[in-house]
Amino acid sequence: MTQLTHDVLDDKPHEECGVFAVYQPRPADIARMCHLGIFALQHRGQESCGIAVSDGHDLVVEKDMGLVAEVFDEARLASLQRPGLRVGLGHTRYATTGASLRFNAQPLTVRSNKGILALAHNGNFTNARAMRSRMLDGGAVFNTTNDTEVMINLIARYSRLSLEDATAQVMKELYGGFAVVIMDRHKILGLRDGNGVRPLVVGELNGGYVFASEPSALHVVGATFLRDVRPGELVVADESGLHSRQVLTPKPTPCAFEWIYFARGDSILDGVDVHAARLRMGEVLAEEAPAGADVVVGVPESGLTAAVGYARASGIPYDIGLYKSPYAGRTFINPTQDLRKLKVLLKLAPTGAVRGKRVVLVDDSIVRGTTSGYIVQLLRSAGASEVHFRVSSPPIRYPCYYGIDTAARKELAAATMSTGEICARIGADSLAYISEPGLARAIGLQTTCLACFDGSYPAGHPDEGDGAVDEQRLGLPVFDAIA
Ligand code: SF4
Repeated sequence: MTQLTHDVLDDKPHEECGVFAVYQPRPADIARMCHLGIFALQHRGQESCGIAVSDGHDLVVEKDMGLVAEVFDEARLASLQRPGLRVGLGHTRYATTGASLRFNAQPLTVRSNKGILALAHNGNFTNARAMRSRMLDGGAVFNTTNDTEVMINLIARYSRLSLEDATAQVMKELYGGFAVVIMDRHKILGLRDGNGVRPLVVGELNGGYVFASEPSALHVVGATFLRDVRPGELVVADESGLHSRQVLTPKPTPCAFEWIYFARGDSILDGVDVHAARLRMGEVLAEEAPAGADVVVGVPESGLTAAVGYARASGIPYDIGLYKSPYAGRTFINPTQDLRKLKVLLKLAPTGAVRGKRVVLVDDSIVRGTTSGYIVQLLRSAGASEVHFRVSSPPIRYPCYYGIDTAARKELAAATMSTGEICARIGADSLAYISEPGLARAIGLQTTCLACFDGSYPAGHPDEGDGAVDEQRLGLPVFDAIA
């Protein structure tokens, strides 16, 4: 028997990971805060999860394969509970490097010359492989196959530097798109790569501080949003407050896919409201790719908001054309069946809203295109007279090197077929994508990463950079108190 993935509509770029960390000046229910925090970040990784906490003496970690609700029952949560907890961090993981195995689950913990450390990481270091092989040549040993361990080894290598100084040094040596939280027994460090590709925000709670991949994880523990961690910034939360060091010269190009698909609709990242951006994507799409139709429907859940935007801008009524079963997430099916088609049938059912209608069908992306074809078939089987497919991301033609699993290039529909060929393959009457300028307009930031659409990688390519320090990337090595 074959187990389905947690999201059976899985012809999508896969989220990377979610990170969460909390520092409290007085003992608090840190384990439960971390539990709530990673629960709110479950959409960013469903393969494994973990929590590490410290009371100032010991550091305890619990992690395993599975969803947060499966891994952390009351007994497991109780095993983390102890008096005097003041720091902790948590992680939800989707494997983008390293196999999806328990030993690769995070947080990663080590005993080092900086004391006991725990680290949780979202994204990829594009030069981690070169770094790892150099360290292996030098006699280093690794317990995991994920590149997070490379960062911990690099930090430990600076034995004469403090944890903060060593981490700042390592930020200069690692390339790619990443957001990382690190804890020792007394404090939390949060950092973002110089391009700010992966998100990280910081909030205030009871005189202490909370870091998270998205603001939604701050709100669930009662923290108040303070700000985004800046690209290239290292922020430290400890008993003297919150301190910031601008380690790398910021060149902001955050991941456009956070607003298209990854982030929760209630999040605001780098000042841009995710829900509002998705509405604008639909509006722009309606301007750029109008269709004569009777109804606009979205593919649940990720296409719904852009569908509302398309309907508003086009004047075509919006309706619920596809019912999504909330219970089909995990089931067992016979591997001899057409898995992908069965996944779609288990998850989605067309409603009467499309019968006899010319339909605009809005989704956030097309990766391989197989799932899109099944959804078009579903609408036709329910009596749709025409199906006009509209996509609120540009065609995905290139892989992501910054922590998103976009599938191999040869599997990407838009890398090997024209839009007309994809339209014929999925059986739609017409197919159109939002343009790159249109997407940029909808997000509203000056620059974003669009590398999976245009192949231009703002934070470097895996073939570039061997870990040598690039002076151009350096900022001011000064710790400033944050007002
Ligand atoms: S390549 Fe695409 S998915 Fe990856 S960081 Fe850039 S915009 Fe995001």
